[in-house]
Amino acid sequence: MSSSNANLMLHQPVTTLSGIGAQTARRMEKLGIVRIVDLLLHLPLRYQDRTRVCPIGALRPGITALVCGRIEFSEILQRGRRSLLCRMSDGTGCITLRFFHFTARQQSDLQNAPLLSCFAEVRAGYAGLEMIHPEYKLLPNTSACATEACLTPVYSLCEGLHQNTMRKAVRQALTLFTRHRDALPELLPAALLQRLKLPELAQAIPLLHAPDNSVTLADLENGTHPALKRLAFEEFLAHHLSRRVARQRDQALQAPVFAASQQLSDTLEQNLPFQLTSAQRRVIAEICSDCRCDRPMMRLLQGDVGSGKTVVSAFAALQALNSGFQVAVMAPTELLAEQHYNSYHAWFEPLQIKTVYLSGQQKKTERETILQDIAGGSAAVIVGTHALFQEAVRFFRLGLLIIDEQHRFGVNQRLALRAKGETSGCRPHQLVMTATPIPRTLAMLRYADLDISIIDKMPPGRQNVVTSVIPAERRAEVIARIDSWIARGRQAYWVCTLIEESEALQCQAAENTLEQLTQMLPGIRIALVHGRMKAAEKEQAMLAFKQGRTDLLVATTVIEVGVDVPNAGLMIIENPERLGLAQLHQLRGRVGRGPGDSYCLLMYQGPLSGTARERLGILRETCNGFIIAEKDLQLRGPGEMLGTRQTGQITFKIADLSRDAELVPRVPQAAEIIQAEAPESVQPLIDRWLGDTTQYAEV
Ligand code: ADP
Ligand code: MG
Repeated sequence: MSSSNANLMLHQPVTTLSGIGAQTARRMEKLGIVRIVDLLLHLPLRYQDRTRVCPIGALRPGITALVCGRIEFSEILQRGRRSLLCRMSDGTGCITLRFFHFTARQQSDLQNAPLLSCFAEVRAGYAGLEMIHPEYKLLPNTSACATEACLTPVYSLCEGLHQNTMRKAVRQALTLFTRHRDALPELLPAALLQRLKLPELAQAIPLLHAPDNSVTLADLENGTHPALKRLAFEEFLAHHLSRRVARQRDQALQAPVFAASQQLSDTLEQNLPFQLTSAQRRVIAEICSDCRCDRPMMRLLQGDVGSGKTVVSAFAALQALNSGFQVAVMAPTELLAEQHYNSYHAWFEPLQIKTVYLSGQQKKTERETILQDIAGGSAAVIVGTHALFQEAVRFFRLGLLIIDEQHRFGVNQRLALRAKGETSGCRPHQLVMTATPIPRTLAMLRYADLDISIIDKMPPGRQNVVTSVIPAERRAEVIARIDSWIARGRQAYWVCTLIEESEALQCQAAENTLEQLTQMLPGIRIALVHGRMKAAEKEQAMLAFKQGRTDLLVATTVIEVGVDVPNAGLMIIENPERLGLAQLHQLRGRVGRGPGDSYCLLMYQGPLSGTARERLGILRETCNGFIIAEKDLQLRGPGEMLGTRQTGQITFKIADLSRDAELVPRVPQAAEIIQAEAPESVQPLIDRWLGDTTQYAEV
């Protein structure tokens, strides 16, 4: 085959490989493998070590090993589940091989004292160690080689796809690749690789699929091998570049230039019942200076729950308003939107600025009037939920979009909104507020198109919430504690959590808990809030709690956002092990908002895994959202930490943000070098690693 044929060949569908039919191809497609080159980037999940034979006498339960020996004895066991048992020995010890499925051929193979090599996990059985359904090979004589030269790759599979099919397919792809390297071209400049001490792609890929004996299993398993680092680095780079390119595109657009609004700002500040913190002042200055440029601001405002983001956004809004532009404020729920409306209304009314609230629940005529006010420009600040982005809503002169994510909006939604304001030929400035702290490493990759402002200090007087981790067996004790807490005139939350997919079950659990607590706490006024109640009912229950007409609020995680009851200083969270740390931190943010001490009891259902214990321990140790996010990232993947529904997923094919974290700081500079020295490589890099998802992210 000529080399250009090999190149073409590698871009053919996998069905052109021998042994892969239409059905296997469909299965591979589920793993994102369509063309032969895709196989090259489908790296092994892990490896098996068949490079050494382990003496049977040295085996321990739990290890996976290759052993060689002679079958001393075999029998078919009829009692219980029919099985074939073989006793194998190598002179250092013996082990039982157990087969539940076997053919007559296998049975006769395994009799007559053959010499055999077996590979499987070792378990403790009734009569000593055993291997269940080991992979085995008959050996013709004692000098026959049972070992393999390289570590054996183990690939992630899907239903119906066999490990051996995948191995054979990859081997064929590798053979084609050795004949034509350009099928998967090197996209990183040689000088860059040298400086980073990373190998070339053409070297890294074969090595990872078929590690030669220079490679140790430990290096691969810990992710410290340079070949792996090389691919992880390239993947990080692709993610960063995709955001960077998007940002550069944005920066080429026109945005309205706002004038400073000293007088309005001074008046607003004088009217506030509190002093702005220095952190608030700093971020206000950052945001306002962005808005005085003719390029669209894309800024993320991060600050823990209660850090005072809303008032910061009001100062940004003033600049737009002062320059004759409208401001749209979008919140994730009606409840929050209404709360925002109330705040902005109270702040802006004295300044003769008209704030309107656009709800999904308004009557038609009322809605029509509001829509007219928005289109005519008499409504200056428009607050609402995602209803703001319906067709019918036409802005007069939208200059600034403020989006309160509070965990709810995905990145894709966020980007979809941008288009809305562009009617005036100008891209509006955009401020996204989030309480989700984004670890620096993640921000460099996923949010490289955003500038980030951080409110890193809470307003004075906020309490740390004393947090304890308690097993569910101590429920009675916890309930007694609620009793005495409420006797002191304080209020409390009881949060029932279940896995998110089943809202019905979650509500049921809350109802059951209400019933139980009502029995056990006579004389205490208990209310219930869950997602399946009518909005009006829910609001009533919340209001009653806020006004102190109820003492204990039993709730599902719906109370995560929007509730502010300073007198409620005790929160019990059931089954905290089921939630992400960020969400737990959010929930806990409901307490510690008033004077006096406050507590959070994490009441888990044992037994806890080591990681679960460690994760809950983090909450006990700190109330700092950033530390929590960083630690959570170290213990779990980023997708899990942020919740796929919440912040937009970031999934890596190969890289691992906790394992490969040390590579991330080198990514931005490498991206700069590539853009300067190999601009033609930028798009191919993005395509190689993000493929179809890039387009999705640009929606
Ligand atoms: P979040 O950042 O969670 O959105 P909010 O903007 O809702 O926080 O602010 C929480 C509460 O803190 C509000 O009642 C707000 O008025 C108050 N607040 C904001 N800034 C300050 C400050 N500098 N000093 C005291 N209270 C403040
Ligand atoms: Mg808020």
